[in-house]
Amino acid sequence: MSTHDTDHLHTLITHSGRPDKSVTGAVNPHVVRASTIQFPTTAALYAASGGRHAYGRHGTESAHSLEAALCALEGAQGCLLTSSGLSAVTTTLLALLSPGDHLLMPDSVYQPARHFCDTLLTRMGIETEYYDPLIGADIARLLRPTTRVVYVETPGTHTFEMQDVPAIAAAAHAAGAVVVSDSTWATPIGWRPFELGVDVSIHAATKYIVGHSDVMMGAILCTEALYGKVYQAYREMGQAVSPDDAYLALRGVRTLSARLAVHRENARKVADWLLQQPEVATVLYPPHEASPGHALWKRDFHPDYACGLMGLVFKDTVPMDAVNRLVDQTRLFAIGYSWGGYESLILPSTQARSRELTGHRWNCSMARLHIGLEAVEDLLADLQQGFAALRAAL
Ligand SMILES: *Cc1c(COP(=O)(O)O)cnc(C)c1O
Repeated sequence: MSTHDTDHLHTLITHSGRPDKSVTGAVNPHVVRASTIQFPTTAALYAASGGRHAYGRHGTESAHSLEAALCALEGAQGCLLTSSGLSAVTTTLLALLSPGDHLLMPDSVYQPARHFCDTLLTRMGIETEYYDPLIGADIARLLRPTTRVVYVETPGTHTFEMQDVPAIAAAAHAAGAVVVSDSTWATPIGWRPFELGVDVSIHAATKYIVGHSDVMMGAILCTEALYGKVYQAYREMGQAVSPDDAYLALRGVRTLSARLAVHRENARKVADWLLQQPEVATVLYPPHEASPGHALWKRDFHPDYACGLMGLVFKDTVPMDAVNRLVDQTRLFAIGYSWGGYESLILPSTQARSRELTGHRWNCSMARLHIGLEAVEDLLADLQQGFAALRAAL
């Protein structure tokens, strides 16, 4: 099904990556399970070899449809699907970096990505330097002739710092480096990363793209200039996703804007309520006017499509033990990692020790909430009785 540049977002979400109208049959792409792809003639074999339709590892219909849909939504030239969000990060960094290169990573980066830099990249002779995520244009001072990649993740994991991506990208490009973004929180419709200077945009599709907590997947979206280089490494590393998983992720895409509208509305009401609780110091939810980072969110992100993930910072008088009581007491908020599904989640969190430069800002008890699609009055009632347990522990 063909889409046009002038189509609105809801139309792209509904129509991109669909089988062409002239092909009669199901609305959705077929799930083709294949290793071998058969060719009728040697001429057809030669024509296909080296391309993306020659062998099952390079994807079949449902994977290629998902790639096309994600490109249309985010405005990318190419998309590559990986086995997890983390493998999208590692594949991209291995594609763009060589021994002797210098990488700039925000101190607020997703922890397993940090671990990859500190272990495998270090072993390969690639130097990672962490920077304050709030650095903005001052990143210019850290750029070296060997800096190949400046990585951004906005907002940051657990601490939700909003980064000035256009300022960072301008400095990076002036020094000949490329900008890689972990765009998971934004989703492919929450911002326009390529218009803000990002060269490669990564998603843990596991989260909102899949949207139902049942598939692990990553997506690497590239500008035309970088697609070839990233694709080469991706292909050499043998990355592949299952056709069934790609089908489920594409099914998730169809309701992305509808789900985010409810996540955003529920999250706003929960943030309002949390801000009224005397034990709460701050709510880290950039779409909310009272949150740190709101001005940058308002400048760079889409006003309608914020997600449901937020951080909760408690006052100094609240020890982690009391936060654990709250977490254990909630009924509708499951305790678990990941986020982006239809359901609410809660996780206790402390960040002081996991940061190299900015840990001193987080000497406090914290929690992370994912606000799902439940009726918000039920979520508020659940939090109310959770806070009663917290208060009883003070
Ligand atoms: C979850 C997450 C990842 C990793 O995704 P997986 O699919 O769990 O490997 C990467 N970046 C961010 C910001 C995430 O939240």
